[in-house]
Amino acid sequence: MTKTSPEVPDDCIYDPILNQSRKRYPWKRDFEYDQEEKEEEEYTPFPISNKVYHFHPVAFVEQMRRMNTIYRKGDKGALILELNFRLAGFGGMLPTEEFTELTEKGVKQFQADYMKITPTGEVDSKTLKKIDEFSDKYRENINNYKCNCGICSGFGQGQYKDEYKSTSKIERHHKYEYPGIHQSLLWAVSASQYYLSEKLEGEYKINSICSGYRCHENNKQKGRSSTNHMGKAVDLHFNKNGTRTKDVTDMDLLREKIYCEYAGAPKNNGNFGWERNKFGLESSLEGAKTWIHIDVREFKDMLKDEFFIKASNDKYFSKKINEVTKTKK
Ligand SMILES: [Zn+2]
Ligand SMILES: [Zn+2]
Repeated sequence: MTKTSPEVPDDCIYDPILNQSRKRYPWKRDFEYDQEEKEEEEYTPFPISNKVYHFHPVAFVEQMRRMNTIYRKGDKGALILELNFRLAGFGGMLPTEEFTELTEKGVKQFQADYMKITPTGEVDSKTLKKIDEFSDKYRENINNYKCNCGICSGFGQGQYKDEYKSTSKIERHHKYEYPGIHQSLLWAVSASQYYLSEKLEGEYKINSICSGYRCHENNKQKGRSSTNHMGKAVDLHFNKNGTRTKDVTDMDLLREKIYCEYAGAPKNNGNFGWERNKFGLESSLEGAKTWIHIDVREFKDMLKDEFFIKASNDKYFSKKINEVTKTKK
């Protein structure tokens, strides 16, 4: 069946809002608008209607707020996943396609800390714009995370999926060379760059990524056996007032004031460490005396291959957040 449009006279166009044909309006720049018609015709700038709409002022404000909100708790989809990546360092958001309570909390943190507005926990166009601004300003350079073994192409060779170093199949012993760096980790580093400059008056800065990806070949060369750095972890060096600090008290201060405070990493009984579905921190007792090690090892069911990237043009990493498919599930 074909749909037929109503008859439209030559000097008119079909107006879908009025559901009828109307004279062309000069300011509408209709495609075939003819200058000569202008003198002859009398135009009404807006369709005239005797309907009058009344809004209660409070209802009106609420209605405007709703119209402006794009994403809120309960929403699902690819864009929500991207949102959960981008704001990972704001409260420790987790990579799911769902706008969860944790997402809402993180959005509030972003609005309060980065946007410096009264937080709503809902993502409107202004918030999206600010997330893009934050992303462009603090996006990590993935090349700094590449493995330097000289054998792999930078992010392992995809070896040992579902193979473990021990009989207990815990992620800590998983030998898999994940295909890239986990995006939540990259964005958590980005947020920490922001918080370092904002909350500690720029006294501390990230000096370098001292260890990003370390494949099995790299381990062999260096005589280590840990598998955490196969896409799930990063080690950071820091500057204090312009010079690299190796002071453990500086590392502990940064672990606490930045990564626990803002990214939600756990600290139990005075010790840094790991907790299910939280960013993990290695403590100085475990070796991280002159650097900070942060990882996503304990993200349960959220270490999917597609969450890891090898280049800045992978997935949506360098795109505007609005470019992500808006399909809601
Ligand atoms: Zn390698
Ligand atoms: Zn490490």
